Amino acid sequence: MAGRLEGKVAVITGSGSGIGQAIAERLAQEGADCVIDYIVEPEEAQGTVSKITAAGGKAVMVQADVTVMADCTKLIEAAWSQLGSCDILVNNAGIEKHADFVDVTEADYDAVMNVNLKGAFFLTQAFVRKLRDAKKPGRVINISSVHEDMVFPHFSTYCASKGAMRMLMRDLAVELGPMGITVNNIAPGAINTPINKNLLADKPKLDALLATIPLGRLGKPEEVAGVAAFLASEDGAYVTGSTYFLDGGLIRNYHEQ
Ligand code: NAP
Repeated sequence: MAGRLEGKVAVITGSGSGIGQAIAERLAQEGADCVIDYIVEPEEAQGTVSKITAAGGKAVMVQADVTVMADCTKLIEAAWSQLGSCDILVNNAGIEKHADFVDVTEADYDAVMNVNLKGAFFLTQAFVRKLRDAKKPGRVINISSVHEDMVFPHFSTYCASKGAMRMLMRDLAVELGPMGITVNNIAPGAINTPINKNLLADKPKLDALLATIPLGRLGKPEEVAGVAAFLASEDGAYVTGSTYFLDGGLIRNYHEQ
């Protein structure tokens, strides 16, 4: 397909649903060949592949749990062996767990940190090692959250993981810049995806949230995908070390009483 990403190959984690699926579809529309990963059940990932191929794009599906180091390597290797390169990495896979801080279990802490931080860390390492060997530039795009910067009481593990992702992004932007690799975060506010299914089912809670968003609505996965496509393209070539907030103004909405 013709577009800003023609000839590029992108790996998008957690791309069977929500924001990851929208990003994969958008990068494919712009011409990138995409690797769609899934953990166990291939059905949702197959749905993303089918949408991309129906629109004339190219995508392959790879089983990879980002918390498993060998899977991280396998995912990047699959891009190179099946699609010939790996130019763009979107660290999108993420989970959240609700708990009062005093009740957080070690298992919950490990689950959230392993997906949101360790997964992104070592998948990026596998991505960069191949680029170093091939002497090629690349793009790393992390889907963090407004909670890389904004408090979210009762979600301390999520905030810790996304805050760490912010510093990881800044650090890698400086360390990897000389290799021609850009590293940026997209920090969504409330986006209409399965991760928010409990919120979407709770009208009073949803209305209270909407009242705090200056644009007065949830964001769409496609809107996150538009910023990812910009950062992946030549239009975003000089952007590195930045977080793009995509939150309808939520994070700036503080009023003196
Ligand atoms: P989602 O639909 O639940 O997407 C999360 C994806 O991550 C799912 O496809 C999930 O796969 C995958 N995943 C979970 N653990 C994984 C693992 N170990 N290895 C590989 N993939 C794994 O929710 P979403 O809203 O699109 O979330 C995408 C990202 O956006 C997350 O990082 C989230 O923190 C961030 N975000 C979302 C919002 C929002 O309001 N929606 C706001 C800020 C940030 P399964 O479905 O198979 O579990």
